[in-house]
Amino acid sequence: MTPILEMRGVRKSFGGVVANRDVTLSVPEGKTCGLIGPNGSGKTTLFSCIAGSHPIDKGSIRFQGREISALRVPKIARLGLLRTFQQTRIYVKMTCMQNMLISAPDAAPGWNSFFRKSSPAEERNADELLEFVGLFPKRHLRAGDISFGQQKLLELAMALMSEPRMLLLDEPTAGINPKLIDDLLDRLRRVNRERGITLFVIEHNMRVIMGLADYIYCLAHGELLAQGKPEEIQTDQRVIDAYLGAQ
Ligand code: ADP
Ligand code: MG
Repeated sequence: MTPILEMRGVRKSFGGVVANRDVTLSVPEGKTCGLIGPNGSGKTTLFSCIAGSHPIDKGSIRFQGREISALRVPKIARLGLLRTFQQTRIYVKMTCMQNMLISAPDAAPGWNSFFRKSSPAEERNADELLEFVGLFPKRHLRAGDISFGQQKLLELAMALMSEPRMLLLDEPTAGINPKLIDDLLDRLRRVNRERGITLFVIEHNMRVIMGLADYIYCLAHGELLAQGKPEEIQTDQRVIDAYLGAQ
C-alpha cells in the first residue's frame, strides 16, 4: 500500500525534554490511522512536527513522496495536509458561514479575508459542506453561539473547504457530548470513505479509536511503543501497562 505520509527517525526536543524520539511510522493513502498514548507522551508534538508548526531536530517527514520537514504550516497546508486542534480555532464573533469563507484556499489569513469578496463557487462549496456536517440551518448564527460539539463539526467543515488530501485530527471528540460524538464519527468515516481523505487521529477515547482506525500507533515517553490493528493494540500488554502507569 502506498504511504501518503512517512516519518523516519524523527526527533523533537524542547530544551531538555525530548518530546519525540526516533519516531518512524507511515500512514497509507486513503486509510484512517490512530495515534494513542498517555498524557504527555508526545502525540500533539508529533502532529505539530508533521504540520510544520515546529522544526524537527532530525529525521525525515515525507508527504506524497516529498520531503516536508523544512516547510512551514501554510506551504504544507497548500500541499493538502491540514491539522485541527484539541481546542477549536474558530472566530466566535463571525457567523458559521463567514468562518467557512475565510477557510477557502485563496482567502487571506483571518481578518484580512473579511475585505475580500468570496466567489459564488466558494459560497456553494461552503453551503454544501455546512449541509454535510448538519450545520446548514445554523449558518447565519455566530460560531460562538453554537455548542462545542457543533463547533468541532464546523471546524471539520472549515478544514474541508481547501480540499485536503490528509487531515491530522487532535482529539476530535474531546469535550463533546456522546450524542454528537456519534455524529462526528459518522462524518469522519464519510470524509474518509466518500472523499478519500486520509485521516490521522489522536484520540484518548479507546472506544472511539478502536471503532474508527484501520491501524493504530501507540506512543509512550515520546517513543513508539506499539503498533497494530485495533484488535492487536487492545490486547497488547505494553499498551495496557503504559495506560495503567506501570513501568
Ligand atoms: P500529548 O499530546 O501526548 O499529551 P505533548 O506532545 O503535548 O503530549 O507533550 C509531550 C512533552 O513535550 C510533554 O512533556 C510536554 O510538556 C512537552 N512539550 C510539548 N510542547 C511543548 C512546548 N511548546 N514547549 C516545551 N515543552 C513542550
Ligand atoms: Mg495532546
